[in-house]
Amino acid sequence: MRLRFQHSIPETNNISSFFFKPETEFNYTAGQYVELTLEHKHPDNRGIKRWFTLSSSPNDALLSITTKIDKDKSSSFKTALTKLQPDDELNMTGPMGDFVLPKILQTPLLFVAGGVGITPFHSILSWLSSTKEERPIKVIYAVKDEEEILFLETFHKANQHVSVIVGNPSPSWGGERGTLSANLILGLTSPTPESLIFVSGPEPMVEKLETDLKNNGIKQSQLVLDFFPNYPDY
Ligand SMILES: Cc1cc2nc3c(=O)[nH]c(=O)nc-3n(C[C@H](O)[C@H](O)[C@H](O)COP(=O)(O)OP(=O)(O)OC[C@H]3O[C@@H](n4cnc5c(N)ncnc54)[C@H](O)[C@@H]3O)c2cc1C
Repeated sequence: MRLRFQHSIPETNNISSFFFKPETEFNYTAGQYVELTLEHKHPDNRGIKRWFTLSSSPNDALLSITTKIDKDKSSSFKTALTKLQPDDELNMTGPMGDFVLPKILQTPLLFVAGGVGITPFHSILSWLSSTKEERPIKVIYAVKDEEEILFLETFHKANQHVSVIVGNPSPSWGGERGTLSANLILGLTSPTPESLIFVSGPEPMVEKLETDLKNNGIKQSQLVLDFFPNYPDY
C-alpha cells in the first residue's frame, strides 16, 4: 500500500513521531507492526526497508511510527526519513504481529517497555482510552534518562499509572531508578499465574529479560515479546 508522509513531531531530543496517510482504508489492531520501504539514494548496508510498530491508535485519522534518530550516526534509512516532505510517497506492507491484547478482558496484563519499546503500548493504551474498554494493566517503563520519557500525556489520559524507571537520573528525579531486571519488575508487581507479561524494546534487553523472568518462575506461555533489532540498548 502507498502512504503519503504528512508531518513529524519531535517527542524528545532524539525521538520523533512520523505521521502518514494511507491511500486507502487500512485496518490494524493496536500493537501490530508494518514494514516500510523508503527508496533513497545511496542506501547503506541496512537497506531501504524497516519494521515499525504503529504507535497510532487504530481509530486515529493518520498512521504514525515513533523512532529514535541517532544524532551521531543514523542509518541512511533514518536520515531519509527525517528529510521527507509533505506528500512524499513510500510503501507499506502489513499489518503483522500478535503483540496485541488477549481476547479475555479479565486477563491481568503487565506491560514492560525499554526506551522506544513503548510504541506498541502507546497504541494499545490510546485505543483503550478512546474505546473506554477497561483492562487490568500495569505498566513498567524504563529509560536511560528523564529526557527520553515519551507519551506521559497519553498515559494520564488513559488514567494509567506507569512506573517509570530511570537508569541515569538527575538529582531531582523522585521515582524508581535502575535498569530492567526480573528482580526489579517482580519487586514492583506480583504477576499471578494467569498474568500475561508483554515485553517490548531493543533485542538484547528483551532476550535478557526473557531468561531472567523465566529463571524467576515466570512461564514461557506468560510472555509475549516484541524485539527491536539494531538497537544496542534502550
Ligand atoms: C516487530 C518490530 C517492531 C519495531 N518497531 C519499532 C518502533 O516502533 N520504533 C523503532 O524505532 N524501531 C522499531 N523497530 C526496529 C527498527 O526496525 C530498526 O531496526 C531500528 O529502529 C534501528 O533502525 P536503523 O537500523 O535505521 O538504525 P538507527 O536507528 O539509525 O541506528 C541504531 C544504531 O545502529 C547504528 N547504525 C546505524 N546505521 C548503521 C549501519 N549502517 N551500520 C552499523 N551501525 C549502524 C547507529 O549508530 C545506532 O547506534 C522494530 C522492529 C521490529 C522487528
